[in-house]
Amino acid sequence: MEPNRDNNSNRNPNQRPDGPGRGRIGSALLIALALVLLFSWVMNMVEKSQYTEATWTDFEKARTTHQLAEVELRDDRIFYMTKEEAAKPASMQKACFTGLPRGDTQALASELAAEGVKVNKIIVEDNSMIMMILSYVVMIGGLFLVMNMLTKRMGSEGMMGGLGKSKAKVYMEKQTGVTFKDVAGQDEAKESLQEIIDFLHNPQKYTAIGAKLPKGALLVGSPGTGKTLLAKAVAGEANVPFFSISGSDFVEMFVGMGASRVRDLFQQAAKVAPCIIFIDEIDAVGRSRDNRYGSNSEQEQTLNQLLSEIDGFEPSKGIVCLAATNRPEILDKALLRPGRFDRRIIVDRPNLQGRLDTLKVHTRKIKLSEDVDLRKIAQATAGAVGADLANLVNEAALRAVRMGRQAVNQEDLLVSFETVIAGTEKKNTVLTDMEKRLVAYHEVGHALVAALEKHAQPVSKITIVPHTSGALGYTMQMPEEEKFLSTADELRTELKTLVGGRAAEQVVFGIQTTGAANDIQRATSLARNMVTQYGMSDKFGLMTTASVQNQYLDGQAYMDCSQETAAGVDQEVKRILDTAYDDAKRILTEHRVLLDEISEFLLVKETITGDELMAYVNAEKKSLEAPEETPAITEGTENTEE
Ligand code: ADP
Ligand code: ZN
Repeated sequence: MEPNRDNNSNRNPNQRPDGPGRGRIGSALLIALALVLLFSWVMNMVEKSQYTEATWTDFEKARTTHQLAEVELRDDRIFYMTKEEAAKPASMQKACFTGLPRGDTQALASELAAEGVKVNKIIVEDNSMIMMILSYVVMIGGLFLVMNMLTKRMGSEGMMGGLGKSKAKVYMEKQTGVTFKDVAGQDEAKESLQEIIDFLHNPQKYTAIGAKLPKGALLVGSPGTGKTLLAKAVAGEANVPFFSISGSDFVEMFVGMGASRVRDLFQQAAKVAPCIIFIDEIDAVGRSRDNRYGSNSEQEQTLNQLLSEIDGFEPSKGIVCLAATNRPEILDKALLRPGRFDRRIIVDRPNLQGRLDTLKVHTRKIKLSEDVDLRKIAQATAGAVGADLANLVNEAALRAVRMGRQAVNQEDLLVSFETVIAGTEKKNTVLTDMEKRLVAYHEVGHALVAALEKHAQPVSKITIVPHTSGALGYTMQMPEEEKFLSTADELRTELKTLVGGRAAEQVVFGIQTTGAANDIQRATSLARNMVTQYGMSDKFGLMTTASVQNQYLDGQAYMDCSQETAAGVDQEVKRILDTAYDDAKRILTEHRVLLDEISEFLLVKETITGDELMAYVNAEKKSLEAPEETPAITEGTENTEE
């Protein structure tokens, strides 16, 4: 961190960047004044357009020639209408006005009346000044009151509005009703949070020893992994109120509102402490103040306020501030200093067991039929987050209702898996026979390469039923167990499997289709990662040529090497892909009979299982070992998945 930045962030906690009182009153007054001026100007203009301005001589002339019909004496002006105008219909009449010289207005009025002129109204000069000032004062006062009420309303909206009124941005739950039982998996996160719960239960235990608990913890993880849920569960377990606000709410509305919202939030929290304050998407306010990611003064002001509030509260009071983000790397360093959000709790995507537990949590209140096997669903959903799984279960329940069933069965879950993760089945997409053949061979190409290679993940399903996601078919592979590491061999096999679809098109039909676009893209990026990040190429060895910037967001890597090296990387990627493609073509050519058999079978059935695929593969193996024996293929004879 640069030294000048440091100064900047070392602010005094007692300094309020934006006071509520003076600044607001001042600006309200100014606005009121401006409005009054504008109003009187407009009135003046309106008056001017209604009356014709005349000179005193004109007036005198009209008077001496007895042309005056009516006059009106107002302040320093005299309005008059000639007899000619008065004779016209009312809408056409146009009166004149001219300045009234100082003197005895009352006397002039009686003189005119004596001359037979109708005198309408006399507003005496002395009073008029006072009246004018008075009316201005009343107007300014009124406007000021209205403005003040408005700003106050807006200021408190965030806070009080949360307690049940509309437009609630900050809201408080007395009891969240969520406990750790509702959060599946995430054992490490729970363990880290356990201490906070204990502290909220019994602060004395900690203060007696003199231990200081962290005021804040940062929950880091991809969207939908259950960060909000965990924060609520902490409040639920500790049985304390839960305040929550999203970081983006701080910065949206008016300048200066963010800071005052932060202040209100902490004030409210202090009243009901012990409690939990949860700030979702803290990156919206907590973005680093250096300009790399673009910041603005409003956001900075809010962040400053947040920092000073966090520094300001006594930890023994029992306020714990939890914040969530999926981009910890962009947060301002000042937020992460000791005494602020110095604890980082990683909320990962769930593993197999975690997914199974999540499914169990969400199916607790759902009627399941006998055939449901949640483990299979968990196996199929590698990479899905808690929110996906919750959605999946709900979709399945909805489907069961649509089908008029009393309980959710395995098919509901599988179909909704496809809805949520792969798009819905679209039976009416019409493919020509030739296209169907191509798709079938393409998919079997993937599946067969996977089935015949050593390090491949077992295939669980092949289908040529088109999906709304645009895929005309797909091959689903299921890992036998959750894996965190992949070996170079496994990745090379994955590459072969990915290009297996295109290889089948080429080997069987001698053509290339657009259907392989996604496969090729995935294969290319995998090969690129192998070269640039995993150190798995002969050419570059252990040298990394790209680095990951946003590990928790998109995980995208950016090249950081010279242009020549980058060109070399491209060549190496191409070589790896070519090798994989050649291998895939060789495998499929060697097993051409098998490829045909399975593809024909798939064309008839549209969907085949991994077991059915393996039955064919194993039958071929046996017939090669003992050619005289040709066993009949039965469906699902061998279970290779478990
Ligand atoms: P985040 O705040 O990380 O974006 P949420 O906490 O809002 O995610 O999660 C959204 C929903 O997903 C939750 O309301 C819950 O239904 C479900 N969910 C996420 N993670 C889990 C989990 N570990 N256990 C149970 N349900 C979960
Ligand atoms: Zn494909």
